[in-house]
Amino acid sequence: MATVRLEGITRQFGSAVATAATGIADITFEVPDGQFWVLVGPSGCGKSTVLRTIAGLEVATAGELYIGDRRVTQMPARQRDVAMVFQNYALYPHMSVAENLAFGLQMRRVNAQQRQERIVEVAKLLAIDRLLDRKPGQLSGGQQQRVALGRAIARQPQVFLLDEPLSNLDAQLRDETRAELKRLHQQVGITTIYVTHDQVEAMTLADQIVVLNQGRIQQIGDPQTIYAHPANRMIATFLGSPPMNILTATYDGTAFQINGQALPCPEALQAKLQPITGQTYDLGIRPEHLQLCADAGDLKVEISVVEPLGREVLVRARLLTESSSRSSELAFQCRPDQRLCVGDRCSLTLDFNQLFVFDATTGKTLYPLNQL
Ligand code: ADP
Ligand code: MG
Repeated sequence: MATVRLEGITRQFGSAVATAATGIADITFEVPDGQFWVLVGPSGCGKSTVLRTIAGLEVATAGELYIGDRRVTQMPARQRDVAMVFQNYALYPHMSVAENLAFGLQMRRVNAQQRQERIVEVAKLLAIDRLLDRKPGQLSGGQQQRVALGRAIARQPQVFLLDEPLSNLDAQLRDETRAELKRLHQQVGITTIYVTHDQVEAMTLADQIVVLNQGRIQQIGDPQTIYAHPANRMIATFLGSPPMNILTATYDGTAFQINGQALPCPEALQAKLQPITGQTYDLGIRPEHLQLCADAGDLKVEISVVEPLGREVLVRARLLTESSSRSSELAFQCRPDQRLCVGDRCSLTLDFNQLFVFDATTGKTLYPLNQL
């Protein structure tokens, strides 16, 4: 086990011209010994590049990397004592499960008896001990992925790197394997860095989440903090399902004008905003903080899609507008017995304590101010 520390890690691809360059820039964080951290962000944001740089499969163009107290920035991958599991868990098809598990140990010249002991131990841990004689082709996707994890664990690396390891599994298996991974980490306690574009995986697995976008860190924090106090609009809309609603509003000093509807601005919030008439803001409100109401309410909408989910109903609605201007969509939840139909017009109340205000240009969270 070891800490992993990145200091200003940068990896640029392509030309040195700033506008043409892609990759990652100025990535700095430290994963304490034994913790489980998740790097999350949309496809192409640089997650794999960060992980591959830690593994030594990419070389940083700037910055320093430490594993434990060793500086490993220029060290070849095989000397770093990390194990990486990919989305495409390439098992050796002609080898049995046991041989696959043993492979990394053989390479490391672990003796036969120790090898055998460790394989049995890891196979039990992952509940694949009855499959040791099978070939990968005789296993389900979930079983194959467990063998891939087992092969990495058996090596007892200092650091465990996982790049979207569950993406190829179907939904149910993904949920099961996710829970298993969490339990496994609690038992084994190896410092783990896990990459995913799936915010549910990030929220459920992480001690700390690192949100990436366009090659840069957006925010680092524990799941609940990031969910409750997103630093900007990108994070606010990325974490949570269905995502936070965003409404573009013009502020007139006392109220927000949204497509012809006036939403009074609470006094506490007025004090925080610049009294510039005509200033545009993005308002954010999570679906769970909108409620259907019988009387006037805060926002008038027309129901456009009704999605029953069993315990609750997910409803999508268009904000009613006076003009034919671009109308905003909102998602909210209601109870199945509230029986909404497409085309119904109704009112929603909004929990102002849960309202976010973002800078419309930069996306930065202006309100609530970070109470961290
Ligand atoms: P993610 O894993 O978050 O989807 P990646 O780390 O794979 O993102 O990629 C980040 C960015 O760097 C993308 O724009 C991608 O096209 C670019 N990139 C990644 N690897 C290379 C490479 N070997 N050569 C050139 N560009 C690359
Ligand atoms: Mg990737």
